Amino acid sequence: MTTTDDTSAQIKWVTQNHQLVPYADATISIMAPGLTFAALVFEGFRAYRNSTTDDLAIFRLDDHLKRLAYSLSVIEMDDPPSSEAVAADIMATMKANDFREDTYIRAQVYVDDWGSMTATGPVGSSVICRPRPRVANFETGQKFITSSWRRNTENASPSRIKASGNYLNSRLAGLDAKRQGAGGAVMLNEDGTVSEGPGGCLFLLRDGVFHTPDVISGILESITRDTILKIAPPLGIPMVERTVGRTELYLAEEAFYCGTGQEIMPITAFDGRPVGDGTPGALTRKLQSHYDDVVRGKSDQYSDWLTPVYGSAA
Ligand code: PMP
Repeated sequence: MTTTDDTSAQIKWVTQNHQLVPYADATISIMAPGLTFAALVFEGFRAYRNSTTDDLAIFRLDDHLKRLAYSLSVIEMDDPPSSEAVAADIMATMKANDFREDTYIRAQVYVDDWGSMTATGPVGSSVICRPRPRVANFETGQKFITSSWRRNTENASPSRIKASGNYLNSRLAGLDAKRQGAGGAVMLNEDGTVSEGPGGCLFLLRDGVFHTPDVISGILESITRDTILKIAPPLGIPMVERTVGRTELYLAEEAFYCGTGQEIMPITAFDGRPVGDGTPGALTRKLQSHYDDVVRGKSDQYSDWLTPVYGSAA
């Protein structure tokens, strides 16, 4: 096991096909198209310990479910579970495990059994939750490299859907980074512009304005990215979505990587060139702290984004 935050031993119950089952008993066919042809879409959510209620609250649950529904519509499956059914499975799985600390939740929908490349059923689904502490290097940041692998194109394997098949491309870039001793990779589009990293989006500060590749730059429409675009301007931190060129990586005064898992991860170098003075920047730090306030319910303005897990039983 190579993860730094392996908490899988704490998982007792998962949901499969809307039934709670012990983790070890949840299985799929070895010939399932979800496995053989990557006919699988998923979502990754985080539940945070709320600073005022002591409950756990899932961050932007409805927006993740909306993106799952979008991914399902593109990949095409027979009668997939509704957003309400997935939400119910998430709540049941959280409660069965009785997790009380920050938790990562993964919901998957896939084609099971045995079938062809175009099989659209039978459809299976699962939800798994595990405690997930903050990623390592959150304080110190990570060095990134530019991968030699290009990002999936919109007309080949669209990055906009959260399909497991897209993560082959991400894996190749991640392996590039690992081989070079870097914490992450930047993936370029076929035209050489910047897309995103293997599992998160990128922001670069130039002349006091953060720039992030736009939604036609081969990115997943990240919910963390969207959160940052909404919460930063009221703090006086301007944000722009646009096409970003590779050499802008080397001009950045600050940079960070973001996603549900990583939250806001400072980037301290691109391809061996320091970003700013090579340490996490002041505006990045400010955003990390504000994001943490938002996800933990310290900011009333964004309370609609939080769905309590245990409610009055907390
Ligand atoms: N891009 C990719 C390829 C990802 O896998 C993720 C993580 N799910 C993100 C971006 C960030 O998306 P989100 O903020 O919705 O987690």
